[in-house]
Amino acid sequence: MRQKKRKKRKLRTGRLLLFFAAVILVFSLLFQAPSLFSEYIREDTFGALPMYRTKEISSDEISSGELILVNGSYSYSFAQEDRTVPIASEKNNAWQVKDEVIRLLPVTIRQMNKMFRACERATGIDNISVISAYRDYDYQDGLFRDRVNSDGYYEAIRWVAVPGYSEHHTGYAADLAIAGEEGDTSTFTSEGDYGWVEENAWRYGFIRRFPENKTAITGIANEPWHYRYVGKPHAYIMHQTGMCLEEYEEYVKSYRYGEKYIDLNIHGDEYKIYYVPASDGETTELPVPLFGAYTVSGNNIDGFIVTEKD
Ligand SMILES: [Zn+2]
Repeated sequence: MRQKKRKKRKLRTGRLLLFFAAVILVFSLLFQAPSLFSEYIREDTFGALPMYRTKEISSDEISSGELILVNGSYSYSFAQEDRTVPIASEKNNAWQVKDEVIRLLPVTIRQMNKMFRACERATGIDNISVISAYRDYDYQDGLFRDRVNSDGYYEAIRWVAVPGYSEHHTGYAADLAIAGEEGDTSTFTSEGDYGWVEENAWRYGFIRRFPENKTAITGIANEPWHYRYVGKPHAYIMHQTGMCLEEYEEYVKSYRYGEKYIDLNIHGDEYKIYYVPASDGETTELPVPLFGAYTVSGNNIDGFIVTEKD
């Protein structure tokens, strides 16, 4: 008799626990659901709770990372190690590369693998070819001299960056073309199915770097073929707002640590983005999140951008 009662009681507690677990599950789903279906770019202020710790970082690091700005005003720092690898050794078969020696940073190739695979699935296109990617100083110097010789200096600077000032030095940028049947290539534009790339590049962290309506800011003519990796949250904001990288760097700088941050939600992927100025000394005390994942990139101007992934 006593055993039976105990059994019954056990059963009842079991059911009760199950019931509570279900209630908690339903509630947590209800709370998460809005963020899964919404997307927003907001601003928020830093709270009073100490959720950050300091990390010492070399101030030189402002010249590296996926958000560095390299343009006519800000040159690339060759003091950092070249970490590029040949594209041919890492790429999948959803895209092509002009020759065996063309190089990019591993992260750029990885994201291109994902982007062009998705493009192939959506459109059937598998003949997008990278015809120019990483360039060292001497290579850019040769390109620039050739263009000056053929078209004159003033036409050359509209199309080819002065050596040291090309985004192609970063390993995050590539020029696309459309490969023909016989090894020939034609100009990449966003026409027809190829428009998929411009529309979806942000999902993989890429931006069309030199759009037609921003030539006055970028200083570079409309180049529908030039794509640059900046990371998904940043590519998303630029895609949504229409800012080019120059404008984005300015925008992020107004979200200074301690004051306010960008509160970003991309269908449930939540990020906090803030700027920290580099110190004048050799190292900078960089505030980074106490918990959770984050990335740090220099802006190649005067500070760092911290991207916190919630
Ligand atoms: Zn280019």
